[in-house]
Amino acid sequence: MEIIAQERGQATARKLDGARVAAEIKREVAEEVERLRREHGVTPRLVTVLVGDDPASAVYVRNKVRTCEELGLHSEHHPLPAETTTAQLLELIASCNARDDVDGILVQLPLPSGADESAVIEAIDPAKDVDGFTPVNVGRMMLRRTALLPCTPAGIVELLAREGVRVKGARAVVVGRSNIVGRPVAELLLERDATVTICHSRTRDLPSVTREADILVAAVGRAGFIRGGHVKPGATVVDVGMNRLTDEAQVRELFGEDAERRLKTLGERGYTLAGDVHPAEVGRVAGRLTPVPGGVGLLTVAMLMKNTVAAAERRQKAKVKR
Ligand code: NAP
Repeated sequence: MEIIAQERGQATARKLDGARVAAEIKREVAEEVERLRREHGVTPRLVTVLVGDDPASAVYVRNKVRTCEELGLHSEHHPLPAETTTAQLLELIASCNARDDVDGILVQLPLPSGADESAVIEAIDPAKDVDGFTPVNVGRMMLRRTALLPCTPAGIVELLAREGVRVKGARAVVVGRSNIVGRPVAELLLERDATVTICHSRTRDLPSVTREADILVAAVGRAGFIRGGHVKPGATVVDVGMNRLTDEAQVRELFGEDAERRLKTLGERGYTLAGDVHPAEVGRVAGRLTPVPGGVGLLTVAMLMKNTVAAAERRQKAKVKR
């Protein structure tokens, strides 16, 4: 197992290997795609919609399109100008809902201000809601019925399972209560018999709560926010954060021995990615830690592919029943 941080005489965290698990899931998805083609004569199709020119969103969508191609799924990308109206988006979604050859619809969030994000998400047919964000899928998840689960939270529990982290009976603390990460990952951990606490910006004495965690999930949106003092020695730490760092001093402060490599990336790309966890400090305290990049982000894309294939399969089965 690869060591994520090294300091003489100190405990070091092992890497929770998002890349390995994502590759494993993608291999399984490629096999499922092949089986669907053989048994039903169909190839799952994912429609992606990107409104505006946010560079981070463009990277995420590009990865999703590329992964579809890699695994043999059809992808259809709709890049739209920032001025696209809610009515135009609703029209596009209605046409994708009606098309038999579309299995998954993904509208990249956030939408530019002015667009009615809730109306757009709620318009997606729940059977094609491969992000798992519609009220129907969220409700089904909460009721523990079959649902398309949100990709990042589903990827996190899949990672823990495949890396042999015991969730049953564990104390899990989630920092962040967003609809797309914090709340659903807490629900999925609860479903797997963890005892779960959710923290947020109004939590009093956050470190005293997070230090109770056997499994700590950080979904805060602030680079390096979770410090060594937030973590119980030996805990498993899942870093969901994806923050673009552009400041050299901050890169040096966060990355310790890895700073030079990160500064090189900063020089080449204009930014380097950092999670919500302070990697140098937490790497010395935690038992296991997801790297950023190379952790949760890869699983999100893998789970999106898995959802798209599951949606295609369910739609085929529903047709047979009719
Ligand atoms: P979000 O909607 O901004 O939510 C952030 C949460 O953090 C909020 O619940 C907020 O509390 C809490 N928070 C903020 N400051 C805090 C503080 N000082 N103490 C405790 N809690 C605090 O963010 P998100 O969409 O969940 O995303 C979180 C991070 O994950 C971001 O870095 C995002 O880029 C990343 N992300 C990664 C992936 C992936 O594929 N790896 C996918 C999605 C998101 P309040 O509710 O009280 O404001």
